[in-house]
Amino acid sequence: MHDLRWEAVCQAYLTIVSAWNAPQSVQTRGTAAFGCVVLGWRTPGAVIECSRRDPSHHAIPSTIAPTWVFPRELRGAHAMPLPPWPQRGLHVIAKPIGPICNLRCAYCFYLGKESLYPAGESWRMSDETLDAYVRQYLDAQPPSVDEVDFAFQGGEPTLMGLDFFRRVVELQAVHARPGVRIHNSLQTNGVLLDDAWCEFLAEHRFLVGLSLDGPAEMHDKFRVDRAGEGTFERVTAAMRRLLRHGVEFNTLTCIHQHNANHPLRVYRFLRDHGVRFMQFIPVVERETDDQGKVWINNRSVLPVEFGRFLIEVFDEWFRRDVGRVFVRDFDAALGAWTDRGRSPCVYAEECGRALALEHNGDLYACDHFVDPEHRLGNIHETPIRELADAADQRQFGRDKSARLPDDCRRCPYRFACQGGCPKDRTMTTLGGQPGLSFLCEGFRMFFGLVAGAMEAMAAEVRAGRPAANVAKRADAVGDAPGDDAGQPVRRNAPCPCGSGKKFKNCCMRRGA
Ligand code: SF4
Ligand code: SF4
Repeated sequence: MHDLRWEAVCQAYLTIVSAWNAPQSVQTRGTAAFGCVVLGWRTPGAVIECSRRDPSHHAIPSTIAPTWVFPRELRGAHAMPLPPWPQRGLHVIAKPIGPICNLRCAYCFYLGKESLYPAGESWRMSDETLDAYVRQYLDAQPPSVDEVDFAFQGGEPTLMGLDFFRRVVELQAVHARPGVRIHNSLQTNGVLLDDAWCEFLAEHRFLVGLSLDGPAEMHDKFRVDRAGEGTFERVTAAMRRLLRHGVEFNTLTCIHQHNANHPLRVYRFLRDHGVRFMQFIPVVERETDDQGKVWINNRSVLPVEFGRFLIEVFDEWFRRDVGRVFVRDFDAALGAWTDRGRSPCVYAEECGRALALEHNGDLYACDHFVDPEHRLGNIHETPIRELADAADQRQFGRDKSARLPDDCRRCPYRFACQGGCPKDRTMTTLGGQPGLSFLCEGFRMFFGLVAGAMEAMAAEVRAGRPAANVAKRADAVGDAPGDDAGQPVRRNAPCPCGSGKKFKNCCMRRGA
């Protein structure tokens, strides 16, 4: 697997860029890989060596999750001036059927969690565990919290059947204190979503996260069923059904080897199929060989590919879609530029407040750290509140910032990036410090390129105006040639912020 020519090229590149950039000390072996890609030398089957080899490194689980639904509170930051983030409490992602799934996506890290439990395990969450979860999770929220998000994920949570989710809603009504609003979200591959499911999801206002990796030829490369067949037709049928039933949903698109170099095709495909909320998740999949060497495998996206992906999507979005399409990374970046503080955990300063609950009540530090080392306990023995506040968990949370290498501490984009998710921190800096994100180069490209636009949008938000104004102004002077470049929005036209109201009753009234 290990291609010596690849390593030689990387080393040569590294030597050159090190000489150029030594004072900044940010060039890494990952950057060497970036250099090779820029030169067009992507080696088929090549792996990128991870320079960190200490055994503790290997305890970190590999790869990318089908992660959680893009929460309502993080959606649309650029559309409207928003109030400060509401004070939020703890977030627990429940896995009511553990890692059991009806698909076999090649990059899914969670399928392997079956090995954590004995053969013959009954994976279905019992009514007793569900009741304990709902009650304790509500109890664990600080008194100031008046909205609680329940998230269900897998494996594939729809395998639990509709009755399980009817019971979820019933128990929430029983246990929620008066005045608390409950939100539910469900991350799904969509294959089982028929009309009955959609009616239920619409009625109870579930927010659905649908996993879809772009057009068929990209989606079907890795998102396959147990027989190895692509699932694109089934997933897009589910998407049409969700749209027909008016179910609120967003798409989760993993960025990997087969779609990373087609950002506009992926983005336009989703947008033109009616998707209004999107999140792009980089696949960074680690493998370890018999000698303990760790590799980022070939399914993964390279840092520069991820950076370029975000930049090209941003460019299209900024020219045409601000205020009507919402992209998690862009909203999170604007959140950072406007100092609103709250962002998805990947870009947050600390971890530790997003835990994962397995089918039997075992609680883990994070969805990406479901392993014996990060098992906090079982909610039938210790309440969620206590487990979440335990010293180990607090340390786990603090480690995200405490273990940042100096390169991140000095980085001008730290406030927005925070060094990325610890699971991706596989690199060693030129100064020899471990803990640099594999994706660093991509982050730096992205944040560096959008900084100007973010500054301008943040100024609008601080002035109490929709950030979408910036794009409209750019459009009017011809910088952003959208469909109707330079044309003022008509009074009775749908408001470009995406609120669904007429322009005259929305942003126009606020002086947009
Ligand atoms: S380790 Fe931290 S940043 Fe990564 S997924 Fe978990 S909570 Fe989020
Ligand atoms: S904060 Fe982010 S962009 Fe800056 S050096 Fe660290 S990983 Fe790279």
